[in-house]
Amino acid sequence: MTIALNNPVKYLRGVGPQRAATLEERGISTVGDLLGYLPFRYEDRIRFTPIAEIVPGQVHTILAEVTSGGGSTVRFRRGRAGVFHVTVRDDSGPLHARFFHGAYLEGRLKEGQRLVMHGKADVDAYRPGRIEMVNPQIEIVSANDEGPGDSTEVGRIVPIYEAIGSISSRMLRRIIYGILGDFDGNVPDVLPEEIRQRYRFPARREALLYTHFPPKDESIELLNTFRSPAQTRLIFDEFFYYQLALALRRLREHRQQGITMRVREDKVREALKRILPFKPTAAQKKVLAEIAADLERPYPMHRLLEGDVGSGKTIVALEAATIVIENGYQVALMAPTEILAAQHFLSARRIFQAAGYGVDLIVSGRKRAEREAVLARVESGETKLLVGTHALIEDSVKFAKLGLAIVDEQHRFGVLQRKRLIDKGASPHVLVMTATPIPRTLALTLYGDLDLSVIDELPPGRTPIETRWASETQLAGVWEFLRREVASGRQGFVLYPVIEESKQELKAATAEYERLAKLVFPKLRVGLLHGRLKNEEKDAVMERFRRAEVDILVATTVIEVGVDVPNATVMVIEHAERFGLAQLHQLRGRIGRGKEKSHCILVAPKTIAGEARERIETMVATSNGFEIAERDLKLRGPGEFFGTRQHGDAAFAFAQPLRDHELLEFARREAFALAENPARADELVARLESVSPAWRKRYQLAAVG
Ligand code: ADP
Ligand code: MG
Repeated sequence: MTIALNNPVKYLRGVGPQRAATLEERGISTVGDLLGYLPFRYEDRIRFTPIAEIVPGQVHTILAEVTSGGGSTVRFRRGRAGVFHVTVRDDSGPLHARFFHGAYLEGRLKEGQRLVMHGKADVDAYRPGRIEMVNPQIEIVSANDEGPGDSTEVGRIVPIYEAIGSISSRMLRRIIYGILGDFDGNVPDVLPEEIRQRYRFPARREALLYTHFPPKDESIELLNTFRSPAQTRLIFDEFFYYQLALALRRLREHRQQGITMRVREDKVREALKRILPFKPTAAQKKVLAEIAADLERPYPMHRLLEGDVGSGKTIVALEAATIVIENGYQVALMAPTEILAAQHFLSARRIFQAAGYGVDLIVSGRKRAEREAVLARVESGETKLLVGTHALIEDSVKFAKLGLAIVDEQHRFGVLQRKRLIDKGASPHVLVMTATPIPRTLALTLYGDLDLSVIDELPPGRTPIETRWASETQLAGVWEFLRREVASGRQGFVLYPVIEESKQELKAATAEYERLAKLVFPKLRVGLLHGRLKNEEKDAVMERFRRAEVDILVATTVIEVGVDVPNATVMVIEHAERFGLAQLHQLRGRIGRGKEKSHCILVAPKTIAGEARERIETMVATSNGFEIAERDLKLRGPGEFFGTRQHGDAAFAFAQPLRDHELLEFARREAFALAENPARADELVARLESVSPAWRKRYQLAAVG
């Protein structure tokens, strides 16, 4: 009997009902799904390293036998910390290995058993001169694994899979190897032949089989860096189809009738000049020119404006708004928090006053009459710019003529929220802004359908922020420093991770506010801001801070995004180890906005280790948002980095935009070129959907986004 891609896994040799259920939970129900589950690493088990030739500091794979370590009994010592020791030997000599949390190995490893061990060798810290492996990967191999020919375990390059529940890498390997023997070899290949040849890709069938069981002469280095021809082909496929979805979507948008704005008229130019409170930076000018060019086109703009915190995105947005308003249309500006929406409202009103544009604010929980009046003005067209939170997308908000939708800090919104805002107009122009500087490759995957503008310079006259790491014991000095800054006319923030005290033993904003106001800064004006205050209270305290009637603002992360008070020069963050890197950078972005030198003090124990330590050290080392974003991505990976709300990452099973960015660029180029020929693109999509009904669903994000 031959096996085909659409066969259910449950009838495969080695699977059975229980394992089938486990696989099903992972979304693996057919042979095709299982073949789509690819190894994450390979071991060269053709040429094992003889133990005597192991080099400390390097990764080796060895084949050895469990020994008693010299005595007559098998001595598996379990140390006090649950460390499990074992000694193995091959013809060339013995090797010691240690396993932390190795209790599970008790009784599983027996004398005489043969093991493949893979890991980094090191000099034993307690017995210099002895080499050991700590927490190596191990796999027990039995005698019949070593027979000539088709062993799955040794004598070949062996694929290592991530275990699925109780199904180990070894079991997966056997199940998949079992398929290959009877496989009918029918793997549809949709990629256009000329692309395949251009990159000398193997056929998809070959790519799939070789990725699971590479030929003996394949380079282990290429395999482990995901650069073998077979892997390259599979990665390219994922990117290509995703980019194709983006390209087709963009094409659809370009066929849409947009609102063509007139930009070159004198009254528009004059209006633009009138609103500018300062000389724009070169980067701001360049970006505005890009936006203006979009607005003149017959189809709607879809542009992402990226710029580090404080780079001056708001004024660019207001300039774009000016063009649209002068053309007789309305503008919506959506921000993720009420504080930020209120701030945008205030600065837009100030700036637009001279031009006589009506500006309104809509957030939830305001007085009914006030709200109805705003809604009426928006519907009549009297309001030219409506600023708001997600309250903007409620059904009751109806625009007379929405020409431009702007989303600030857009990573805080879901795809559908963005879409609902856009749907309030008839194909309005769309500008989304973010202070998360996304590396270009990721921007391509995530927002591949958007044009990208980057503000890569800060307004002049900013002094770099000095960032320090202080421990709890140095707090008295920190408060003294803050007192001095206030004495010379400046203001500061003190940040806490939680609003109220809880079992976590974290300092909380409310309790610390009381303490700081009464005991530490009795002579200063201390304010409190957190998410559970009523809107009016939030507005009031923010307003007092803005007017410098509050010296020190004790707050939670509600002030994380956007808040702009140039006179604030100190940011103290307690429990800094609790915050993510992007968040710390955003919080620090609240200061350093004026001419005076600003100081960020991260309070965290000096003993912290691992990622928390790296985060703080990164913050101290650099204030460059792009560097920080790269670092953050490396620490957390794209999934975590962007949260679960929206990221292209989920669209890929195997490809990784950061690791594979070159392939991504190629795939994008090819997909967009192919989409230039709509008939061919449609034909390809039809074939794709026939071989992979899941395609649409999988790339829904790209298609709906
Ligand atoms: P972000 O990009 O983080 O949204 P903002 O738009 O809030 O930054 O701008 C940060 C600060 O820089 C604001 O106080 C703004 O008035 C000021 N600013 C923006 N552009 C310029 C400029 N060209 N020259 C001087 N100050 C500027
Ligand atoms: Mg902003």
